[in-house]
Amino acid sequence: MHALEITGLDKVYDDGTRALDGLSLTVRDGGFHGLLGPNGSGKSTLIGIVTGLVRGPVGHVRVFGHDAVADPRRARTLVGLAPQEVHLDRFLSARQVLSFHGRYFGMPTSEANDRADELLAAFDLEDKAGTRPNRLSGGMRRRLLIARTLVHHPRLAILDEPTAGVDLELRHDLWTYLTRLREEQRTSILLTTHYLEEAEALCDTISMIRGGRIVAEGTVPEIIDRFGGPRLEDAYLRVMRGAA
Ligand code: ADP
Repeated sequence: MHALEITGLDKVYDDGTRALDGLSLTVRDGGFHGLLGPNGSGKSTLIGIVTGLVRGPVGHVRVFGHDAVADPRRARTLVGLAPQEVHLDRFLSARQVLSFHGRYFGMPTSEANDRADELLAAFDLEDKAGTRPNRLSGGMRRRLLIARTLVHHPRLAILDEPTAGVDLELRHDLWTYLTRLREEQRTSILLTTHYLEEAEALCDTISMIRGGRIVAEGTVPEIIDRFGGPRLEDAYLRVMRGAA
C-alpha cells in the first residue's frame, strides 16, 4: 500500500480557475518524495486536498488506503502538515506547543507530554523546552515546527517549503533533521521546495508540476537522464520551458 496515491485529480475553484488538471502522483510507503514547480502550479491546492482543507476536488486521493476525499477526517489523522507560514503560539513554551498539539489530536495529557519530550530530544531542543517560540532562533523555530508535525505519529508528513528563506548553513542543518525524521520516525515524506539542490540531496523520487499537471517524474538520476543535466536544476529548467 502506498503512503499517498492520487489519480486523475481535478480541482476547479469557484471563480473557474482550474488549479489541478488530471493530476496523478504516488508517494511510496517510506518514500521521500519531492514536489517541484513554479508558483501557481497547484502545489498548495494539492496539499490542501490531501489535508482536507481544500474541498470539492474530483478524483481519487488515498492516504495509506484511506479515501481522503470521502473521509478527510480519517486521512487527516494519518497526515502531519508543516505549513509554510510559521504560526506558533507565542504564549506557549516549546514543550507546550508540542504537547497541546498532541492533545488536539486526542492524546491523553501524559502521552502528549512524553511525546513532546521525545521530540524535543530528537530535534536537539531539550534545553529550550521552557522557552517561548518567539525567543527561539529562526532555525530552532523551524525545528520546532517540524517536530510539531510529528506529534501525533502521522505516517505521512507533508513539509511545505520547510527551509524557505533560511540561510545556506541553516538549510544544511535542517537537512540533517529531515533525514533523521525519516530514519527515526519512519515517516513517509512529501516535500515542496524551490531549492533544487535540496530536492537532489533529500528526495528519492520527484514529481515536477506545472499548470496542475505532473510534467516529469522519477528518481533524480532518471530525470537527469531523460531531460539532461548535469544537475537537477538543468533538467528542471528544460522540463518547465518545454511544458510552457
Ligand atoms: P502553488 O502552491 O504551486 O503556488 P496554488 O495551488 O496556490 O499553486 O495555485 C494554483 C492555481 O490556483 C493558481 O492559478 C492560483 O491562482 C489558483 N488558486 C489558488 N487558490 C485559489 C482560490 N482559493 N480561488 C481561486 N483560485 C485559486
